[in-house]
Amino acid sequence: MTASRNVAMLPGSFDPPTNGHIDIIERSAALYDKLFVVVADNVQKSCLFSAEERMTMLKEILKGYGNIEVVTYPGLVVQFAQEHGVGVIIRGVRALVDFGYEFELAMTNMQLNSSLQVLFMPTSPKYFMLRSSAIKEMAAYGADISPMVPPLVVKMMGDRIKLLN
Ligand code: ADP
Repeated sequence: MTASRNVAMLPGSFDPPTNGHIDIIERSAALYDKLFVVVADNVQKSCLFSAEERMTMLKEILKGYGNIEVVTYPGLVVQFAQEHGVGVIIRGVRALVDFGYEFELAMTNMQLNSSLQVLFMPTSPKYFMLRSSAIKEMAAYGADISPMVPPLVVKMMGDRIKLLN
């Protein structure tokens, strides 16, 4: 499919979705006619929630946005872009430590598909500490994660942790 500059994607693991993710998704959706939020269905990465569960959470949280489509995808980001006419990949960056990894990833994706643009969006200052991995750890030790994730995620995390204990 021909890539459109008005169609963007935000790929990620979202295990679980945080307020930082939602902020970057909302800000990206305001810039494009259509935004795909693409939940990685990666068998190599062990996640607390299945790709289906992560997609369902994001769909529910983002249901008010007519131009956002949440999907799962098992392949490469560039393959999804090619199949869906995506012209722009957006990645959020929190701090300098994110940048090295994101830059290398961008170089790889641009090499695989030279018609794709990759944009980095800085986090909002209030969310720069939010990381899914830290949230999972805090929740496992019973810390209150409600200031960091949407209410639905607080509930899903609570249920999952009870199940694991
Ligand atoms: P991945 O495993 O692909 O890095 P993540 O779920 O950790 O997936 O992140 C998905 C996207 O959201 C990435 O671009 C990441 O940099 C961005 N992101 C994660 N947390 C934040 C945050 N607090 N603020 C802004 N962007 C964030």
